[in-house]
Order: sequence, then structure tokens, then C-alpha cells
Amino acid sequence: MSEEKNNVKRIAVMGSTGSIGTQTLDVIRANPDVFSADVLCAGNNADVLIQQALEFTPNAVVIANEKHYKKVKDELFSKGIKVYAGEDSLKQIVEMETVDCVLAAIVGYAGLSSTLNAIEHKKPIALANKETLVVAGEIITEAARKNSVNLYPVDSEHSAIFQCLAGEWENPIEKIYLTASGGPFRGKSREFMQTVKKEQALKHPNWSMGAKITIDSATMMNKGLEIIEAKWLFHLNREQIEVIVHPQSIIHSIVQFRDASMKAQMGLPDMKLPIQYALSYPQRIRSDFPRFDFINYPSLTFEKPDTSAFPSLTLAYHCLEKGGNLPCAMNAANEIAVNAFLNDKISFTQIVEVAEKIVSTIPFLPKPSLNDLIETDTASRVKTKELTG
Ligand code: NAD
Ligand code: MG
Repeated sequence: MSEEKNNVKRIAVMGSTGSIGTQTLDVIRANPDVFSADVLCAGNNADVLIQQALEFTPNAVVIANEKHYKKVKDELFSKGIKVYAGEDSLKQIVEMETVDCVLAAIVGYAGLSSTLNAIEHKKPIALANKETLVVAGEIITEAARKNSVNLYPVDSEHSAIFQCLAGEWENPIEKIYLTASGGPFRGKSREFMQTVKKEQALKHPNWSMGAKITIDSATMMNKGLEIIEAKWLFHLNREQIEVIVHPQSIIHSIVQFRDASMKAQMGLPDMKLPIQYALSYPQRIRSDFPRFDFINYPSLTFEKPDTSAFPSLTLAYHCLEKGGNLPCAMNAANEIAVNAFLNDKISFTQIVEVAEKIVSTIPFLPKPSLNDLIETDTASRVKTKELTG
């Protein structure tokens, strides 16, 4: 037992107060001999961050919003926990020598700088923050290759693909199928969606997640982001990535090999499983997660995605194919537009319309540097804010 303690993997949980972050802490709490929380980071939620720090006694915490620094410090400093605030600290904290692995679960573009810095400091990444790969997939994967850093997918579809690929590293992928639940508006028309309210869009049938990704699931932009995420994680081109709607969310994705064999990974929809696998890979560790029972699911069904009702998929395929700074522009526009929808500034269908407009007007850069991407992100946000009031 004591030997095992020395092998505890010390995790920096970036975005610890969110949906993925709190489920990561559930996994750590359930496996104290395997994992510990070495760093906790949050954006604004000082109260939850303090409470988490008191339970997990990490080495350090970071609160991105400096306004909350004093409060967090007053609560934690006497407990021997280091407290930092601001964006630079967020980026730098992952460098700490005590960090063995970085769980990247900040939402949106805000997660990019800490993940890139962690890679440059040779820290393995458990990656939930898909927007990082959408914005800067080439830079991130190139940095990971150069620094021999592994990126372990946390996103359930990509974890499924990763699990199907275990033992298959020599075998090229012919094609993958990313499954999509279809979200709350599956089967509905564009006309119907023009008048839906945020309360309807926030009701996901199978998963409970943060607000931004829940809206992304309703527009199917989430799947759009995921095809681009898959391109970079598994080195695939457009023809090799297909989306299939699977309303029960039991099959999490599928790999097809060149001999026509297909491998699928399945289980009840529970993000704790892909989180745990990303942290424990290549081991599987015992869990008490509920087990799937076939009798409760007499039929698993599949449908072609309706791209006229969900144009986000067409837009994302376009951005995937053209590459350069277009995925970055699409992502920035989407983040601002989702926010505008949640603040009742635009309608549901306008989210993707606005993203289409930004993608079609931003000056195209085929091989952007990191600075180019930062500029594209900023310019796209400014333009989207103009369009969305
Ligand atoms: P969430 O909104 O519940 O949590 C986001 C976390 O990021 C919070 O801890 C918040 O404090 C922090 N944060 C936000 N802005 C920040 C900033 N500027 N600086 C520092 N921290 C900031 O989101 P979530 O649902 O947990 O999703 C996190 C990421 O994981 C997203 O990229 C999402 O696409 C991805 N993901 C989530 C799920 C899921 O089931 N929730 C599934 C697959 C992938
Ligand atoms: Mg997913």
C-alpha cells in the first residue's frame, strides 16, 4: 500500500469547478491511492474552488478572475495552499514540478494557453477542452510531437476511438464514425428552431454538461467541433470522418479498419469513464459506475444527420477541409454567439448564421502562426459582438 502511495499521479485540474472538473474530482476522490489533485484552477467560482481546495488540499490553486484573489487567499493560505490569480498564473501553474498530468477542462479558447504551455513543459494532457484543437490543432499536435507528449482524449467520442485503437497502432484507420445524440432538437425543422428558447436548448436528453457545450449540442456545433478535434487527434482527412446520429448515446464512436472490421466502444453515457481512462491509461481501474443492461435498451438506432436543419455540420466540414485560421474564426464566433443567445440577444438559429458570416468574411490564412490565430480570434470576437449587439 505505502509503495502505491508513492505512485500517486498528481493532477492539475484546469477548470475544476465545471462539469468535467467536478467529475474529475469525483474520480480522484474515489481513487486516492491512484490520483491526487495537485492544482485546482477556476475562472470565477471562488466559493466552489475554496470548498474543493479544503477537501483535496492541493499544492496550489489559481482563480483566473483577480477580483476573487483576496477571498481565496484568506481562506486557503493558512492551510499551506499556494494561491495565485490571473491569466499568467493560469498559464504558468502547469509548469510546477509536482504536476504529473494536466486535465484540461477549461471551456473554450481560454483553455489554449495553459495546455500549450503544459505541452512545452512535457506534461501529459488529458484533454477535454476540444476548442484548443479546433483553434490550434496543428500547433498543438506539432508541439506534442516535438516534446513527446501524449494527448489523452476525454471527449467521450474521441475516448471511444482511442479505446478502439488500443492494440491497433500498426493498423491504419480507414474511417471513423463519431456518434451524436442529435440533441434536444433532433428531428425538428429549422423553422421550429427559429423560436426555441434557451430553456429548451439547455435540456440535453442524455448528458448533463456546462451551458456552452449544451448549446453546442443543440445546434450540433459540438459535433462540428468534434470532427475537427478528431482530425488532429487521429490524423484523419475529411473523407475519413463521418457523423452518425445515435439517439441513445450508448455507442460512443466507431473505428472501421481496412479489412472492413469495425470496433465500437459502448457503455452508459457517463463522462467519468472517459475521464478516468484518460488519467489511468493504459490501465483500466475498477469503478462502481453503473453497468449497461441490454434489456433496458432493446434497440440501438442510427440516423443520417439532417444538415439542412443543422447547418453547423456543413460549416465545420468546410472549416476542417480548408483549415488555416478558419476553424479558429468559427470557434470564436460560436463562443460569442452562444453567449449572445444565452443573454437573449439573438435567436437560436442565428448562432450558426453568425458563425457562417464570420467564416466567410475573415481574411483566410492558410498557415497561421500562434500570433495569427490570436489575432483571428480577437478579430472574430469583435466582429461577432458587432453582429450580435
Ligand atoms: P463548464 O462551463 O461546466 O466548466 C468550465 C470550467 O472552466 C469552470 O471550472 C470555469 O471556472 C473554468 N473557466 C471558464 N472560463 C475560464 C477562464 N477564462 N479562465 C479559467 N478558467 C475558466 O464546462 P464543461 O462542460 O466542464 O466543459 C469543459 C470543456 O470540456 C469544454 O471544452 C467542453 O467542450 C469539454 N467537454 C465537456 C463535456 C461535458 O460532459 N461537460 C464533454 C466533452 C467535452
Ligand atoms: Mg463529445
